[in-house]
Amino acid sequence: MALSKEGNALVERMKKDLMDILACPICKRELELTVDEDKGDEIIAGSLYCKKCDYRYPIMDSIPNLLPLELQE
Ligand SMILES: [Zn+2]
Repeated sequence: MALSKEGNALVERMKKDLMDILACPICKRELELTVDEDKGDEIIAGSLYCKKCDYRYPIMDSIPNLLPLELQE
């Protein structure tokens, strides 16, 4: 699956090199990766933290959930 820099990373499996293009969807700043479980360079579980927003985006089953809070149900 091609990865769009426009932000279609939501369905992309989380790899460590994705950190280069992932940014906070709210403030567009870079995110801090916390790895709870990984396999090679793929992050199975963990989180992406935005210091500015003080918000933590979860990574579950290798999928980063970068939806802003107000869009999550
Ligand atoms: Zn932010």
